[in-house]
Amino acid sequence: MKNDQHDETGRTLRLLMLAPPGAGKGTQGERLAAWSGAEHIAAGDLLRAAAQGQTELGREIAAYQASGDLVPDQIVLDVLLPAAAEAAARSGFILDGFPRNLPQAMAAAEFAAGRGFTLQATIYLQAPEAVLMERLLARARQEGRSDDTAEVIKHRFQVFAQTTAALVPYYEERGILVTVNADQPPDAVTAEIKDRLAGLSD
Ligand code: AMP
Repeated sequence: MKNDQHDETGRTLRLLMLAPPGAGKGTQGERLAAWSGAEHIAAGDLLRAAAQGQTELGREIAAYQASGDLVPDQIVLDVLLPAAAEAAARSGFILDGFPRNLPQAMAAAEFAAGRGFTLQATIYLQAPEAVLMERLLARARQEGRSDDTAEVIKHRFQVFAQTTAALVPYYEERGILVTVNADQPPDAVTAEIKDRLAGLSD
């Protein structure tokens, strides 16, 4: 694929970044967006922005995020589906952190099919939990995110293992899973992803 929003056949890029906490889906998602011209849609950031509002909904979202639990599906779908549809109609998207469970994935697939678009690939970033924990604790020292304490991080790993990891076989069965080793320097991860995308058929 070339360095603009379309690949060589004129299609836009539509990717999902699937990864446990700390594997670099935000960093890699931003880089892939800058490289391809597609929009980076970070579910955690959009929900954090929605949580800023001094409304009951804002407070509800903030409480889920602070605990490391998933925000309820309907709230997530209301925020993320319109953002994805708008991006699909413009320059494509790099979805980062959505869908995060099977009901979200099925709702998103049905919504997308109704609007005539599909995911081209799901990039699954894989790394050992000890490496991820170390990275997240370092980020906590730099950014001070409320969900980056050791206890909440452990809980977020559990949520990933118990809920989000089910998306790995789900996308594998659909033939669009691309597994990448995230236990290497960020530039090497980016290079591996781009390499793998070059072989993408649709
Ligand atoms: P992230 O920035 O992707 O690590 O997400 C931070 C937090 O936002 C998660 O721990 C969840 O509380 C919430 N969140 C992000 N994406 C989703 C999603 N797709 N479904 C439910 N909750 C989400």
